Amino acid sequence: MVIERRRPGLALDADASWRDLAKCRSEGPARFFPDGATGGALEQIHGAKQMCARCDVQAACLLFALETRQEDGIWGGTSEAERRRLRRAWLAARRQQARLTA
Ligand code: SF4
Repeated sequence: MVIERRRPGLALDADASWRDLAKCRSEGPARFFPDGATGGALEQIHGAKQMCARCDVQAACLLFALETRQEDGIWGGTSEAERRRLRRAWLAARRQQARLTA
């Protein structure tokens, strides 16, 4: 998997050591970056999610994907559509937290 792939200009999180423990570290990108979300891609997505479910750094991976707005592929056991919904809720929670602590 292309675990370092991210949007240009966005900083990596301070502690990137979780990548060393990524279950997908030796995988090629095909499984984690399926072409679409229907037909044969569903099998790829399912396979990637199964690997994520066995990964010790799933939470860190998902947080990284949310923080750096990874829009493509499977990250932290989530699909692109799932992550878009999660990110909206995550951003709303962060805004609320910021208001409460201001
Ligand atoms: S959670 Fe999935 S995408 Fe993230 S590092 Fe683990 S296996 Fe890779």
